[in-house]
Amino acid sequence: MPRTADTLPSLRELLTTAVEAVGGTERPGQVTMAEAVHKSIRTGEHLAVQAGTGTGKSLAYLVPAVRHAIETGRTVVVSTATIALQRQLVDRDLPRLAKALKASIGREPTFAILKGRRNYLCLHRLDTGAPEEPDDGGLFDPFAVSALGRHVKRLFEWSSETETGDRDELVPGVTDQAWRQVSVSAKECLGKDKCPFGTDCFAELARAEAGRADLVVTNHALLAIDALQGYQVLPEHDVVIIDEAHELVDRVTSVATAELTAGMVSAAVKRCGRQIAEDIVDRLEEASEGIKEIFDDLPQGRLDDLPRALQGVLTVTRDAAHSCITALGPDHSSQDVESTTARRQAIALLEEIHDTSVRVLEAFDADTAQRRDVVWLSSDMIGGNPRPPALRVAPLGVAGLLRERLFGECTTILTSATLTLGGSFDALARQWGLPVEQRPTQKAEGTATDIAPPADNDAPHWSGIDVGSPFTHEKSGILYVARHLPPPGRDGLQPAFFDELEGLVNAAGGRTLGLFSSMRAARQAADELRERLDFPILCQGEDSTSLLVSKFAEDEATCLFGTLSLWQGVDVPGSSLQLVVVDRIPFPRPDDPLASARQRAVEARGGNGFLTVAATHAALLLAQGAGRLLRSNDDKGVVAILDSRLATARYGGFLRASLPPFWTTYDQSVVRGALARLNS
Ligand code: SF4
Repeated sequence: MPRTADTLPSLRELLTTAVEAVGGTERPGQVTMAEAVHKSIRTGEHLAVQAGTGTGKSLAYLVPAVRHAIETGRTVVVSTATIALQRQLVDRDLPRLAKALKASIGREPTFAILKGRRNYLCLHRLDTGAPEEPDDGGLFDPFAVSALGRHVKRLFEWSSETETGDRDELVPGVTDQAWRQVSVSAKECLGKDKCPFGTDCFAELARAEAGRADLVVTNHALLAIDALQGYQVLPEHDVVIIDEAHELVDRVTSVATAELTAGMVSAAVKRCGRQIAEDIVDRLEEASEGIKEIFDDLPQGRLDDLPRALQGVLTVTRDAAHSCITALGPDHSSQDVESTTARRQAIALLEEIHDTSVRVLEAFDADTAQRRDVVWLSSDMIGGNPRPPALRVAPLGVAGLLRERLFGECTTILTSATLTLGGSFDALARQWGLPVEQRPTQKAEGTATDIAPPADNDAPHWSGIDVGSPFTHEKSGILYVARHLPPPGRDGLQPAFFDELEGLVNAAGGRTLGLFSSMRAARQAADELRERLDFPILCQGEDSTSLLVSKFAEDEATCLFGTLSLWQGVDVPGSSLQLVVVDRIPFPRPDDPLASARQRAVEARGGNGFLTVAATHAALLLAQGAGRLLRSNDDKGVVAILDSRLATARYGGFLRASLPPFWTTYDQSVVRGALARLNS
């Protein structure tokens, strides 16, 4: 019988108990956040909470979440973007919290972790072997082939040791290609009742455990699948807490992005095999050849119109895939496991091919303002070689989907250290589909603007709160903008940039995290500084990122240079990190198909595409990058932006207002002096 609100201790009592049990001290920001989350859960009003590093935000949402689950008997879902946070919650925070609250609430709260089916080892596939997989070009690379063999061997060994079958527990990991050999998608799965391994199935066991738990920890991808794809994969829930919410839009976009390659179609041909009449399969084979030919002919990049030839090939592909699906027919209970497996494997791939063809064919509305998707052709690199071209289709925005299927379904609490940009929640709220009032807030010059959605009484209600940070940024950190440097050009880093970087790293005595907008720039800077200085310089890609970060943290003189994953993933408190250098404002590349199409879509509605898309993207990354500097109370240091546009461009005000409130200077000698004093 669930305990009622009257018999449960108050939120404050539970929070105090939890904080004492983990050996912490109560922090004002944590209490404010816990009370705001509690209120949101009780009223059903969605909430966005910005909580700086060191607030203790996980306890601030876990305690009200546990209280709600115990009181109502309903599950609360907590979603994270990174495996690191997922591990922290499941391996550290939740076990300690469960023990701490047991006496107060009468029983130990339960929790479970749940991911998409593809994340778990499939015992049936392990037993029967993988079907024909689309060739992504790796098979022409002898190194890739031998790596695949080694990885698959490791997976077989691991399968007899693992208790969860969870891919994230396999360290070091394996390539996606190897993992596909031992996992299935939801559509390929035979289902617990039909599968000979149903009772021992890792994915099924995880689902069953999640169904019994008070709290379920998941990732944004599964949350997106649950919300967007019309079938329930998470247990029944009325509250979702989204941590690392600044990543939500990108993760949902990835789930909603589809791909079509000639390799997928020829793999589907092989999967159909002898299950259906040869002439029907032949049409699919012709479609595969047509796709290969036209993808090789078309220029890579965004497609603003559908070329006639591509339209023809996609129509043939759509119809051929449909004919195969019809010919395969529905599942029969009389079919044996082998036939059901073969049929499911073929249907899963055929449906993907059919649905993506339809989606691309429908993406080119004559009125560009009505378009919902963007389509582009690209060829990724694998082991230094280009993969065969792939046609991709992605949503221009996910606001409508989130608004209807997430905010429309349950109370949602979004949190992160970075949710306000230019001093307001508006930019991210728009991307999430939450209404943004035209309120007279104080904004920095150049703040992103967009067309306000029409007045709408059904709009979800929400509020935003910034509970601040325990750090005094003005006293502990300096923002240095190298205003005297020429604006960054297209031809790589300039000599003046290296002189500036050398002076800063020298003054800091190493201890530098270099965040670069491209791998090319990171390598160029590492090579140049190795020539000029004696400090050890590590560069991303020279070893696994986690190993490089450990080496960087262990030795104060060491510097680490890299790109995107370092912007968000480095947590090094103490004196090993006293200088964060950013080479240029991280706008999306002008040829990024999704960002450029999103920009155009905002402009088609009369908004400012550059500020709404590119500046928002850059502001979020800059704030994340600057957040690497202060990780504990005693940390001090400098964030140096070596891009003069931050000081001189009109949008610079919006970007600066998105950064923590560091003391700001443009004076090279002041910043070098400050770094030297820290180093003395
Ligand atoms: S139930 Fe599905 S996922 Fe589980 S072992 Fe069987 S086929 Fe694999």
